[in-house]
Amino acid sequence: MTTAQTQAPATATPALTMTAAFEGIEGAYSHVVLEAYAGRRGVTFEPLGCPTFRAVAHAVLGGRADVGLLPIDNAIAGTIREGYDILAEYELDPLAEITLRLEHRLVGLPGATLEGVREIESHAIVLAECGRFLASLPDVKRVPVGDTAIAARNVAAAKDPSHAAICSKEAAERYGLVELAGSIADHPDNTTRFLLFRAPVAAGVAAEFEPAASGADRKTSLVFSVADKPGALARSLDAFGKHGLNVSKLDSKSRLGTSEFAFYADIDGDVREERFADALQDLKEYTSSLHIIGSYDAGTAPARVRRAIDVVVDNAPAVVPSVSKQKQNFPKVTREPGQPRSKVRVGNVVLEDGTFIIAAGPCSVESREQLFAVAHEIRDHGAVMMRGGAFKPRTSPYAFQGMGWEGLALLAEAGRETGMPIVSEVMSIDQVERMGQSVDMYQIGARNMQNFDLLKAVGKTQIPVLLKRGMSASLDELLSAAEYILSEGNPDVVLCERGIRTFETATRNTLDLSAVAVLREKTHLPIMVDPSHGVGVRRWIRPLCRAAKAVGANGILIEVHPNPAVAKSDAEQALTFQDYEDIVADLARIPFIQD
Ligand code: PEP
Ligand code: MN
Repeated sequence: MTTAQTQAPATATPALTMTAAFEGIEGAYSHVVLEAYAGRRGVTFEPLGCPTFRAVAHAVLGGRADVGLLPIDNAIAGTIREGYDILAEYELDPLAEITLRLEHRLVGLPGATLEGVREIESHAIVLAECGRFLASLPDVKRVPVGDTAIAARNVAAAKDPSHAAICSKEAAERYGLVELAGSIADHPDNTTRFLLFRAPVAAGVAAEFEPAASGADRKTSLVFSVADKPGALARSLDAFGKHGLNVSKLDSKSRLGTSEFAFYADIDGDVREERFADALQDLKEYTSSLHIIGSYDAGTAPARVRRAIDVVVDNAPAVVPSVSKQKQNFPKVTREPGQPRSKVRVGNVVLEDGTFIIAAGPCSVESREQLFAVAHEIRDHGAVMMRGGAFKPRTSPYAFQGMGWEGLALLAEAGRETGMPIVSEVMSIDQVERMGQSVDMYQIGARNMQNFDLLKAVGKTQIPVLLKRGMSASLDELLSAAEYILSEGNPDVVLCERGIRTFETATRNTLDLSAVAVLREKTHLPIMVDPSHGVGVRRWIRPLCRAAKAVGANGILIEVHPNPAVAKSDAEQALTFQDYEDIVADLARIPFIQD
């Protein structure tokens, strides 16, 4: 990470080492670009090669690299959309455009000859860029690999003079290879444009990065889409022309699932200029979506490029650490890279990484006999916590509404008798205090996930909360809801994926198990899965319990009934005792996921 080198003379700008993430291995064109750029700007980049574009973004967002580099277009191959898309998706902050002329050369082992070459490895796009040269070698096999430097490394490792690679001079030198043919691209002006970027900065910090007001030597990249109507594109482009802004690049792609096109545009100027604000105002009338990737120093701006990197340098000793957008929105629930996951203790049970717990019980408490039968069954077969609804949120006001306080008292008694902590749904603020005297964990139901006053009320208690995902809530909304509870002082929140509404009607909901993978990355809070409400059909609960454990959940919440046929709520998804035991046996065979 960033370190100022102390041996620099006091009067000079201290030399600085920054970690720079790029796609490929050392010697790849992206690495060559970083080296050239660093040499000109008086910084040193510690290279961090990454296997994919997305991994480059993750390295920067996760704080493992100070800056990242992604290619965004090539003179022969055209727009590299993945580069733009990732910058847009992660709201990365572009700093500078860097253009490199790629001089492809064919290289091989010392002593190899062009005539003796039988196989050539390189990046697929680079092979395409050298189409004419390769056409002159019809009997030679072409082997696409992930990156030009990997091709060079493979050739060096193969120790076979009939193997050659197309790569940069730097990659050839690095792997001890010699040139067999130089400048072999179809066109000599084979340039690639890259963007150097860093993680998004908190709003208050952004002002420190303000460029000079003129906007000259600045460029802005954006992605927008226009309705599929005559004149819509012309009018949107006119929005720039009218305000004196030059569109220096425009490329389109269809937006899947719509009849619209997305346009990738580069505009000369800075988005903070007034004329830009006016143009964007006009543009909004014709666009159905608009995403501004950001403004950065154009390659034509040596002075500004210098300044952009200086800004990074100035801020580098991490006086103000860059803060991801997520961290700004939900600071307390966000998991920082490397941060350990939280433990939540519920009575004698601890939800933590490396354990997987079973919480089971009836959907509703219906009678003493029903509840105690279930309590003994589950306690004797693997469950460590008991669930049971006393206040039930039912779609119909005429459906069974739960036994209320009487049901809760039974639940507490069954919990004491079997030694299991109990979890039950709290539906309103006025139940919070009284319910807190008997439950070990409050459940906030899916329908109440965004009942903010209720979230604040349980947040003021010291009792753990099982927060279920709303049936149409995004994961960010779930995290925001959790943030409400933590922000009031209660750190003991467990998230619960319980299925979301989709177009699928075969299952009651769609159990979004990808949520577990995403949440494990985004938050330190434990995560449970409720396959009962997720699929709503008894026979599909078992495979999804297995999947929940395999994907890395910290536990499951499932509904069990002594006689599902007469269950007063959620009868179709109630497990018989036999179903329940089969699930417990299955789960014993699935390993825990820990990372
Ligand atoms: C329940 O657990 O019984 C329940 C009502 O769940 P959800 O809020 O997920 O629908
Ligand atoms: Mn239920």
